[in-house]
Amino acid sequence: MTPEEILAGDRAHVWHPYAALPPASPPYVVDGAQGVRLRLGDGRELVDGMSSWWAAIHGYRHPVLDAAVTDQLGRMSHVMFGGLTHAPAVTLARTLVELAPDGLEHVFLADSGSVSVEVAVKMCLQYQRATGRPERRRLGTWRGGYHGDTFHPMSVCDPEGGMHHLWGDVLPRQIFAPVPPAGFDAEPDESYCAALVEAVERHAHELAAVIVEPVVQGAGGMRFHHPHYLRVLREVTAAHGVLLIFDEIATGFGRTGRMFAAEHAGVTPDVLCVGKALTGGYLTLAAALCTPEVARGISAAGVLAHGPTFMGNPLACAVASASLGLLRTGDWSGQVARLETGLRAGLEPLRGAPGVRDVRVLGGIGVVQLDHEVDIAAATAAAVGEGVWLRPFRDLVYTMPPYVTDDADLARIAAGVAAAARTG
Ligand SMILES: *Cc1c(COP(=O)(O)O)cnc(C)c1O
Repeated sequence: MTPEEILAGDRAHVWHPYAALPPASPPYVVDGAQGVRLRLGDGRELVDGMSSWWAAIHGYRHPVLDAAVTDQLGRMSHVMFGGLTHAPAVTLARTLVELAPDGLEHVFLADSGSVSVEVAVKMCLQYQRATGRPERRRLGTWRGGYHGDTFHPMSVCDPEGGMHHLWGDVLPRQIFAPVPPAGFDAEPDESYCAALVEAVERHAHELAAVIVEPVVQGAGGMRFHHPHYLRVLREVTAAHGVLLIFDEIATGFGRTGRMFAAEHAGVTPDVLCVGKALTGGYLTLAAALCTPEVARGISAAGVLAHGPTFMGNPLACAVASASLGLLRTGDWSGQVARLETGLRAGLEPLRGAPGVRDVRVLGGIGVVQLDHEVDIAAATAAAVGEGVWLRPFRDLVYTMPPYVTDDADLARIAAGVAAAARTG
């Protein structure tokens, strides 16, 4: 197919994320990706500033990851997981338990991040029922979050973010605390902590769980907060028999400078969701990990009532184990520290520029927040003009490059962010 044929077929038949049909502006055709570069249908090459939405941390066509898929393909690409098990799933589960914060020992493999959040919620609801508190059916969270696009995850996304006014009468009504005060390094705000404690205490009798993204709120607004708030949540939830879910689908596997963002706070949640970078961006896979206490509670009363057709897909598990292996044997923390230095150097000069409200960097995440909604098509085109792939949204031009991005490509990404931020 020529690029023109691809675009014509796309326009006629294919939905894209958060798009009308046909989309407001045509997508770019990609026909290959290697290292940190996407190759467009017209031959141009773009440095990928998005890691395909947090996922492709080791870059594209990584020889070790390619080999893991090819090798597994020669054994079996898929078998059902009901009544069967296999080395790729067991190896991956064991590795996840070793890497995750202490105390999380059991792994439910799900097909996508949203489904892992559904499973995490189900775990908590079933645990509360199994332990004699069936009236605890609601979820608590803070504003500004994003937990996925299926219905229960949508119910805990930021209520201002679009989902709720579209779905207000369909979604379960959850309990929202205010958005956590901004700033990873900002002095913790004691009155905010008191408000968090008060909200959990007041609703404890009806709360099954509190769910939050630790340290970095991603698609809800790319905000960073102080890890202290997570310690406050851990204490108050534990004191009142409310479970705590950390959604680390975006932050997991090193992106914030720690293997898991929970480590910044030194706390372990009852349930942890991972996804996105789990397979190094190769295949869709996510997981919900839980403590023995949660697993025992559920299992004493019956079964965990979930079982996707493609649960534990061997290809996805094999490449996930290979990707985690690259993290374990490589220098991810040095790589992410270098991303942080490069992003700070490249983006800080934009602070105070016309139209720029804030610049923030944490680990391998760089954010330029504007004082207006970005024109997505114009901003994307401006970045592409600099040889960079970005996907801005709302008032945010942001980047989370693959960990293997070198300094020259980081500087190019920063130039792309600057160009996108200037489009008005
Ligand atoms: C992306 C994301 C999800 C949803 O994952 P999908 O794989 O897109 O379903 C949930 N929570 C967070 C924090 C995410 O970043």
